[in-house]
Amino acid sequence: MSRQKADSSSSELSAIRRKGRLFVISGPSGVGKGSVINLVLAQLPSIELSVSATTRARRPHEIDGTSYHFLTEADFKQRVNQHEFYEHASYNNRMYGTLRSTVESRTGAGVDLILEIDIQGARQVRKLDPTAVLIYMQPPGLAELEKRLRDRATETEETVRERLAIAQEEQKSIRTDYRGHYVITNDVLEQCAEVLKAIVVAERHRLTGQPEAPQGFE
Ligand code: 5GP
Repeated sequence: MSRQKADSSSSELSAIRRKGRLFVISGPSGVGKGSVINLVLAQLPSIELSVSATTRARRPHEIDGTSYHFLTEADFKQRVNQHEFYEHASYNNRMYGTLRSTVESRTGAGVDLILEIDIQGARQVRKLDPTAVLIYMQPPGLAELEKRLRDRATETEETVRERLAIAQEEQKSIRTDYRGHYVITNDVLEQCAEVLKAIVVAERHRLTGQPEAPQGFE
């Protein structure tokens, strides 16, 4: 690592308050949230992706415990009753949720956490944690979104239609839901990742609690 790179990473780390922050990334299915997030995770220190639980079927390339915790509906409901979820929502007739244990252990360890969750979950997190940063990732257009969903080839014709309908519905409330937060467009992957990185870095300098005094000022 070059000296300049080491210096900028450590100054970034020192700007992190002791408790990690939540970066809640939402956006229509197929917009490319996963690819953008992976680029950012590879380039920034002290940030991780939260692994959600879901009742939807595992896709061939997905790994249980890494992509999602794949649960039966009965198991998911039991965990809801036992208050194991920080937030949860139903999307396209399947249940998805962020485990409270993941949020508490990682942010407690000072790690920032990316929650890649739907807009209903984002609304819940905003109420639970006013310091959470909400980011909505939109496609450059509806036709491009449809193309990306079809290219992914993991969806049936029916789920493509359902997911496009959800995207159109969501887009209507973005202006009010995300006031004071961020809306970014994923046209070119690398450029979108740069914007997301800039948001994370800038937010690490936002004063949300007691400021950490520079050495000698304590
Ligand atoms: P997919 O089935 O394509 O993996 O995800 C469908 C939708 O569920 C996406 O919008 C994704 O962001 C959302 N999602 C994934 N995990 C969670 C979660 O833990 N909570 C909520 N509320 N939504 C989630």
